[in-house]
Amino acid sequence: TYIVTDNCIACKYTDCVEVCPVDCFYEGENMLVIHPDECIDCGVCEPECPAEAIKPDTESGLDEWLELNRKFSVAW
Ligand code: SF4
Repeated sequence: TYIVTDNCIACKYTDCVEVCPVDCFYEGENMLVIHPDECIDCGVCEPECPAEAIKPDTESGLDEWLELNRKFSVAW
């Protein structure tokens, strides 16, 4: 899965949302998040993010962000 991280805070460009083929972006408290179970790992969103906030979960040190993405990626 891909994860939205701190660079997204207060950014809210929605380029990523527009390119995601499975619509797995959700709006968190002050940033966008990706639903980890809905993301199909296509990688299309990563280069689209102007803030470089989207990272693959294979990168180390992102466990807390993964949990935050999961927590906020629910339908309100
Ligand atoms: Fe959507 Fe693909 Fe990005 Fe996952 S990697 S959030 S499926 S665009």
